[in-house]
Amino acid sequence: MNENFMGGRVVVKFGDITQEETEAIVNAANSTLMGGGGVDGAIHDAAGASLLYECKKIRQSNYPNGLPTGEAVITAGGDLKAKFVIHAVGPIYGSNKGKDAQLLSDCYANCLRLAAENNIKTVSFPSISTGAFAYPKEEAAQVSSQVIEDFLNHNLTITQVFLVFYSQDDARKFVENPKFS
Ligand code: ADP
Repeated sequence: MNENFMGGRVVVKFGDITQEETEAIVNAANSTLMGGGGVDGAIHDAAGASLLYECKKIRQSNYPNGLPTGEAVITAGGDLKAKFVIHAVGPIYGSNKGKDAQLLSDCYANCLRLAAENNIKTVSFPSISTGAFAYPKEEAAQVSSQVIEDFLNHNLTITQVFLVFYSQDDARKFVENPKFS
């Protein structure tokens, strides 16, 4: 099932994000940037040791206390088909004093901004925060669709955004709850 929005600039699909052939894939990282479970572990495994090495350097030089929630950094893609990985820290649902939606929105916006700054034209996102970080999938769909639409309406560098869901059911939950106008 591939569903399109915004005239095909946003594509919803089902699959494993480590197999994406877009120029950049987004990692739903945690603030340590040292890898972890879920999509983070899968991306580090598929990319190889150079990804962790670059993340360690970013921690040392810019974020000794970890990458704050809502922010994103970019590395090369190592052994992945994607040339770049954009690592973003999503909010842990319910632990941000009512700011979960703003922080999730910031995450997507910062990833898209980094992509555009690096002249990246195609980028794939996993469903940030909706696994271990427990963000309700229907709510996350509303937040992500709105920020992506807003960004793409003001930026022409990025030609296509792929939203990659790990199950058909998750893709369906997105398609039934988007806020694209
Ligand atoms: P978070 O800690 O941000 O919640 P998770 O990795 O636990 O991150 O989950 C985020 C989303 O990524 C979940 O919806 C999960 O089903 C999905 N996911 C896990 N592995 C993959 C993968 N290989 N490709 C795409 N999505 C994945």
